[in-house]
Amino acid sequence: VKVKGDYRYELGELADTLNYMAQEIVRSNQIKDDFISSISHELRTPLTGIKGWSETLTLGGFDPEETKIGMQIIAKETDRLIGLVEEMLDFSKLQQNEMKMVITKVNLKEILQETMLNVWAKAEQKQIQLKLEDLSEGQVLVAGDGNRLKQVFLNLVDNAIKFSPESSWILLTISVKEHMGVVEVSDNGIGISTEHLRRVKDRFFQVNHQGGGTGLGLAITQQLVELHNGEMEMSSELGEGTTVMVSIPLLDEAEMEELITKQIE
Ligand code: ADP
Repeated sequence: VKVKGDYRYELGELADTLNYMAQEIVRSNQIKDDFISSISHELRTPLTGIKGWSETLTLGGFDPEETKIGMQIIAKETDRLIGLVEEMLDFSKLQQNEMKMVITKVNLKEILQETMLNVWAKAEQKQIQLKLEDLSEGQVLVAGDGNRLKQVFLNLVDNAIKFSPESSWILLTISVKEHMGVVEVSDNGIGISTEHLRRVKDRFFQVNHQGGGTGLGLAITQQLVELHNGEMEMSSELGEGTTVMVSIPLLDEAEMEELITKQIE
């Protein structure tokens, strides 16, 4: 029998730790390999479209309408590539603590309205109803980077659209609780099992590759929320839907003064 203090016990502990570390290294290498293979696929698909259409159009002889369709596909696929590359760059900046933020006084309500406008067309394509419910009174002011906060909500609504069936709904609510601006994004889409829910915020993790993407979206979103001293919580039920709650501390009077003076300087 090994007892604490006995060198055999200590050696046993050491062996367990080393074993655990070795398993973690193998696991993290496996995750990176999977990521490289899925990102290569993600990059290749739009590239194939762009190459195909540019070669076809170079042959000439198409009427203006056909040419327009080809050009539109090229533009759309290029946007998709830019989006993927930007996501990877953001992730790498966050990893290296190099994400630059321009902090100003931001009204979360305005950010949500802008987000809705940005995703409207995408939701429409799947006949998804987008609703914004305002449970707060007046403005919901926080100190933040408006563009980055918009990125947070765009990511969440984008996921909600991606993982919801046609003709479903997505609800955004905004409220104020305990000196926090609270935004919830709820969908009644495919949901996430309890087992997977623990891991979806991990970098590279995807339940499956069904929605495409890089598996970086939620990891980036979570880190951006944390850079605003906020919190992000997810709840979900398989087959029922998902809710993501983001809370950001409200701006207090003193901070507001400080920000205003900074902007004047
Ligand atoms: P991706 O960019 O690949 O979507 P994310 O980090 O945004 O990566 O999401 C990781 C995974 O979490 C997704 O691939 C999906 O399996 C799951 N997920 C995220 N949001 C939702 C949602 N609203 N409903 C169901 N599953 C979701």
